[in-house]
Amino acid sequence: MPGKEVDEMKTALYLRKSRAEELGESTEDALRRHRETLEETARSMGLLICGVYEEVASGEDLYARPEMLRLLRDVREGRYEAVLCMDVDRLGRGSMSQQGVILEAFQHAGVKIITPQKTYDLDNEMDEDYTELQTFFARKELKLIKKRLRRGQERTAAEGGYLASAPFGYEKTRAGRLPTLRVNEEEARFVRAAFDRCAAGESCTAIACFLNACGAQPRRSAAFTRGSVLALLRNPVYTGAIVWNRRRYRRANGGGRGCSKTENPRPLWLTADGCHEALVPPELFHRVQEQLSSRARPAGSHTLRNPFAGLIRCANCGGLLQLRARSNVQGGYLVCERKGCCPSAGFRDIVSALHHALLPILALIPLEQSPVPEHAENTALLRRAEKNLLRQEERLRELLETGVYSVAVYEERSRILNVRREKLAEETARLPQKAPTDDVLQGKTAADAVAAASPAEENRIWRLLVAEILYRREPGKGLGHILLDVHLRFLPPKLAQEDGCRSLQLS
Ligand SMILES: [Zn+2]
Repeated sequence: MPGKEVDEMKTALYLRKSRAEELGESTEDALRRHRETLEETARSMGLLICGVYEEVASGEDLYARPEMLRLLRDVREGRYEAVLCMDVDRLGRGSMSQQGVILEAFQHAGVKIITPQKTYDLDNEMDEDYTELQTFFARKELKLIKKRLRRGQERTAAEGGYLASAPFGYEKTRAGRLPTLRVNEEEARFVRAAFDRCAAGESCTAIACFLNACGAQPRRSAAFTRGSVLALLRNPVYTGAIVWNRRRYRRANGGGRGCSKTENPRPLWLTADGCHEALVPPELFHRVQEQLSSRARPAGSHTLRNPFAGLIRCANCGGLLQLRARSNVQGGYLVCERKGCCPSAGFRDIVSALHHALLPILALIPLEQSPVPEHAENTALLRRAEKNLLRQEERLRELLETGVYSVAVYEERSRILNVRREKLAEETARLPQKAPTDDVLQGKTAADAVAAASPAEENRIWRLLVAEILYRREPGKGLGHILLDVHLRFLPPKLAQEDGCRSLQLS
């Protein structure tokens, strides 16, 4: 039946001994028998055999199969319309990527696969047989690739080999067959310096500045940041250790693209002594870990400390100023995240200047005079979004610190979250003021509310009043060089004639 359809088809004959036949028959005998069977098939189907490829090597690896490589080359050159072989298993050995290479080359060249039992038409994707062929390859993929690769990787790690891309301070190399790391002395000096400085109490930001000033060049970004220094200082690879199986990858729900990464519980972690040279003695590493965790805010205490959070922007670049703790300044510093954009300022100075200028305005807003009823539902939704966002920010920092995210990915994600935070702040500010019903509020003003508020509550009040505050610091020492342009959302009726902008110069 099929002989009439494939008339004088230019065909390659591919012969390979399968493992099942390895007992008993000699290779030569088996190949001759197969050859006769295939020649008979070709005759009955009217195929024209234009080339014969006889694999004598029995390697699984595609590159240990010179005849298959030759066949692939010739197929790509368009010399055949069909490949004749005993069964698809002869083609489909080895890893999936290699099977994929074969299948793709055949499909691309419009070559049919013909066995004595079946003709597979790769061009016709509706072909049931083609689907069956794909399933065959896919099944092999799942079984082979997954198991074999993972086992290989775990074995490598247990033997002290290093598989991921080399961290700063190292280069990839091989010790025999084992992939491992070799010290890159140029970078290693910076790694040691970072650990020394951290142990001496220097902040990650300061260390990042130092490294950048020294011309240290991180692998995947332009310059060191607080985050990348933190990740570096937390990486046990610098003590010569290998940590494996820290994360588990799972397909996303619904089998779509991408997969989710979750941290495995510590007992599942596989730790081994690496073959690579340590850059940092274990005592120093532990000292640094203690330093870092003593500086980190304890878990769950991520509360807002800046009542003007989300409101103060750098007049230069428009970025939100960040509150950073610094040991030599009580209350910390407000800094523009863009390195070298504008000088920072003491947080307390800024807050007191803003209070001084804005509290009198709040004092004109009586608390009982709230015309708009509260939309409890909206408030609840926004609060929940705020909570979610905080969780995500925490999680993002964790992912960076545990090395799941590269610094580049972290920064990208963190930008996205910042945008959401700003949006959320805008929405929160749009919420109507709370309608007070309590008599206790009689005679009280919004300024009294601020006095009694936590920074987070205070922040909600300021967001109602203030659209944004632009921060500028002219070159020069002293508070007098700090300028704040405050843009108000509205003015109380008594001030309605005035301009909604306040320019403050600190003194
Ligand atoms: Zn700036």
